[in-house]
Amino acid sequence: MNSDLHLFDQLFEEGNEASFRLAPSLPSLQELFADWLDLFLRAWELPTHTAARWEELRGLYSLTERISLQYCRSDQLERELWQLGVFDEREVKQLTDGLQVFLKIVRSSELQPIRLCTLEMLELWWQALPEAFAWDQLKLMRSWGLDVAWRKEAWRVWWRFQQGKQTVPEHPRQWVSLCQQVALKRGCQIIKVEEQVARWAGVHLRQEGPCQTSPNCATCRIRGHCRWAQEETVPRDVELAWQAQDFQGVSTQQLIEALIPTLNLPEESGQTKEGSLLRRVEGWSVQQWQQQSENAFRETQLLLELCRRHGEERLQPGETFHNSGDLFRHFRHRLRLLKQEVFLVVLLDNKHRYLGEQLITQGLLNRSLVHPREVFAQAVEQRAAALVCLHNHPSGDPQPSSEDHKVTQRLKESGQLLGIPLLDHLVIGEERYVSFADEGWL
Ligand code: SF4
Repeated sequence: MNSDLHLFDQLFEEGNEASFRLAPSLPSLQELFADWLDLFLRAWELPTHTAARWEELRGLYSLTERISLQYCRSDQLERELWQLGVFDEREVKQLTDGLQVFLKIVRSSELQPIRLCTLEMLELWWQALPEAFAWDQLKLMRSWGLDVAWRKEAWRVWWRFQQGKQTVPEHPRQWVSLCQQVALKRGCQIIKVEEQVARWAGVHLRQEGPCQTSPNCATCRIRGHCRWAQEETVPRDVELAWQAQDFQGVSTQQLIEALIPTLNLPEESGQTKEGSLLRRVEGWSVQQWQQQSENAFRETQLLLELCRRHGEERLQPGETFHNSGDLFRHFRHRLRLLKQEVFLVVLLDNKHRYLGEQLITQGLLNRSLVHPREVFAQAVEQRAAALVCLHNHPSGDPQPSSEDHKVTQRLKESGQLLGIPLLDHLVIGEERYVSFADEGWL
């Protein structure tokens, strides 16, 4: 930790800090409770007001008006929950436990902004939710105007910068603690510390920067100091990369060289070799490939990686988005084989030029978590004139569900209100996609 603080001292750019305004006051207890309840129900996959009728859950959302915040017994809470007639026995128990944690936080913090986000209190917030939702809890607290570290991408940058290729811890505990210490030492806000890390790497405000799932170190401002980037400069052996199932650090040339002997291609320059290789195998069936190669499994994987790189046609900032096909080509290699659902928003300017993209949720099966507030917060901040949403279906079938239709409708209406139209919503499957705009559903 000391070396972390020292590095921050070296790298903190004095007088060049982004300015932030925290909300002048916290939302009311009822609003905090409603937001927290939304997250809690989604996280534990309990019936939400999109699954049950709103009238049935009204009693739950107004609970804080009927019970004593100072002292409320579990059996009293359980009785209240049973009366709603929406939850089964397990769900009532889960909700009761969660509500007791929420009430404990309210009592011990007295809703003082600083006390709400001490490390001790954060442990309580996290205790109420599954581990995978720890970042969502921070994000929610940030939306209340609280001074908490909440940006996973900044943590990822810092970890790679400091630790190189060691797996990034999923839980935000270490990051929150580090940012708090640095902020205390420097006498600044925690979110400024986090913003500074984002700025070093070129991750500006909430836009994604170069340090994504596959880091693009060539465009990163801190590559000269970053441990990961230094490890990356040593080209990796194809064989080792294949065994580890991680082709980062292996150049395209290395992949081609490893595949050429299998296909007996003539000696050519790198570019021509790649073209010949891909032309040769285009349209091959798996059987043909197996007949061709003695080590078909290994070679197929190398070839898939090569095709993935070859097929990447990513829009660059300033390039114009013309139709759904542009976005499909931009995202399909990243999304089509993901095991988790991810929901992204692409921001466009008034000429429909690509401004950037933002991950909204990851790994959530319940799309009701995609709140218009999260989606449009980015658009407003980046002064986007229009946006497009997209998500993947890990099943491979891009046919939108009824929930997809509902969330699209909500986003469309929010966009109309804000004057930031939703141009399209793409659902990406394994090889195909469905565009709401092309289908005339928008
Ligand atoms: S140099 Fe590469 S790994 Fe390091 S922070 Fe930048 S993009 Fe990430």
